[in-house]
Amino acid sequence: MRTLDTEKLPVLSAEIFVIPLEANRFLIYAPLRRAAFVGNAGVVNLLADLREGRTGGGGNDGETLEFLRRLEIVDAGPETPPREVFADEPEPTSVTLFLTTACNLRCAYCYAAAGEGRARRMSVELARRGVDFVVANAIRRGEDHFEVNFHGGGEPTRNWPTLTATLAHARRQAEAHGLNLTAYIATNAVFSARQLDWIVAHLDGASVSCDGLPEVHDANRVTPAGKGSSASVLRALRRFDAENFAYGIRMTVTAAAIPHLPDSVEYLCANFRPGQIQAEPAYPIGRGAFAPSAETEDFIAAFREALGRARKYGHELTFSAARAGTLSNHFCAATQDLFALTPDGSVSSCYEVFDESSPRAPIFLYGAADDAGGWRFDRERIAFLHRQTVDRRAWCAGCFARWSCGGDCYHKALAVHGGGEFAGTDRCDIIRELTKDQILARIAEAGGVFWHEMPEGIAAGEKCACVSCADGKTTPRAPLFV
Ligand code: SF4
Ligand code: SF4
Repeated sequence: MRTLDTEKLPVLSAEIFVIPLEANRFLIYAPLRRAAFVGNAGVVNLLADLREGRTGGGGNDGETLEFLRRLEIVDAGPETPPREVFADEPEPTSVTLFLTTACNLRCAYCYAAAGEGRARRMSVELARRGVDFVVANAIRRGEDHFEVNFHGGGEPTRNWPTLTATLAHARRQAEAHGLNLTAYIATNAVFSARQLDWIVAHLDGASVSCDGLPEVHDANRVTPAGKGSSASVLRALRRFDAENFAYGIRMTVTAAAIPHLPDSVEYLCANFRPGQIQAEPAYPIGRGAFAPSAETEDFIAAFREALGRARKYGHELTFSAARAGTLSNHFCAATQDLFALTPDGSVSSCYEVFDESSPRAPIFLYGAADDAGGWRFDRERIAFLHRQTVDRRAWCAGCFARWSCGGDCYHKALAVHGGGEFAGTDRCDIIRELTKDQILARIAEAGGVFWHEMPEGIAAGEKCACVSCADGKTTPRAPLFV
């Protein structure tokens, strides 16, 4: 093999993944450069040569190398993988309150099996203590904002006195300290007209559980008497739209509901104006533990069709772990800094660990209210959670989706593998297929040849300082790229 006639040998400067598409077509993806293109075997071979410290063999290699430089894949210096750094002492400015384990529904797939067992309710005093903590942190950190989230384990509106008193307290605190407050609720939207009025008037937004077509929703989201709940939910959505109230929809897709997903999404898009719609296959835990898996190829196919329908209405449909363009070594706040309070005063880092009886409480509960009116934290547990990052997981090292997936839900990984070595889950296929779709869509949106996201602050079409833009060209000349 001859070397190219250059003063300096080209150096591969990106972590590269090659994803086969079809005969002689490969998606070449450099996640940390936020760059991708579709190439043929010649490009793949050139990249392999570069990885092994050799240069290519002539032909169009010079033009290809020039193209790769513009994408920062060659000769761009070291990459910086995302690594979040956390303070030793938790200093959250956002509190999530699991107000109760009581629920007015008995959804067939409920992860919390809410409504079973003794219901626990958070006291106003405990909720206020949580609010006061994040307010004090916001002041100490010099921030102008704090956040209060009312969440599940049950239906938060079932602890109405604590919900309303806590928000009133938070508003007073915001006013007293000149801070901005945002307050959200995750809800099943089955509440009274008076509660609906209050939510619209007092909160900044809601995440509503709704499975789409009324008959699909009512097949699973039922009252203790077995009656469907769609009428209440759709009434709430109509009101939210009428008031321009911000909300998103969270769809849970059972195996039986997969064929209806496109129609369900279209129904929501045609009739309502949610800020976002997220669809997730039902998680086999709680009351859905023994249901047929929805983490299947059928889900992927139905999601793709549903996404196309959503786009016709100008809506985006999301799946939580497919997020090409995002760079993180964490999936969610559970391994970062979620400060969530259980009704009994434990501090949880996970939305699915909302009480002390959870089998995974010893992992995710990392603190508790102390006797002095404050909080005590288990620093070893916090450090352990912070270490659960995708870059420390051997199984994920060869996965092209790793820097956007972030290792997916740690709670689900534990449910599948226990404390053992992570070896992938059925969700991984969904994550990779939908992430691949997103990368290809980004290439298409960027003109069909390549995708390369500019560093922050650089507008599309503008030159930036990186090597790839140094010549200011925008299209490759090489016929290698098909
Ligand atoms: S670990 Fe999973 S269940 Fe827990 S907060 Fe994160 S995404 Fe939710
Ligand atoms: S192997 Fe699975 S969990 Fe790991 S990065 Fe890939 S998709 Fe995510």
